[in-house]
Amino acid sequence: MKDEARWWEMRPAQSSRAKTYTCLICHRRLLAMNPNTLLFPEGDREHRRHAHTECVAKQRKAGKLLTKREWERAHRPRRADRRSWWRRLFRA
Ligand SMILES: [Zn+2]
Repeated sequence: MKDEARWWEMRPAQSSRAKTYTCLICHRRLLAMNPNTLLFPEGDREHRRHAHTECVAKQRKAGKLLTKREWERAHRPRRADRRSWWRRLFRA
């Protein structure tokens, strides 16, 4: 399992086939016929995992399972900051 993924792509999923998966988060059984959430670690389609939508919601509330946008916002300097640095240097 890719625990070290910095961000996740998420989308709702539901299958018409009676398959079962193991929830990525609580490790309990998940029926594919029930609405659930598909998770792609850093957008990686080959390592996609299923999780209960409630489990994902709980993790998100706890500040985990960031989307790419949320991760980028948290780890990249904001545009305004970069501009002010540039302005300070060149007195623009
Ligand atoms: Zn679960």
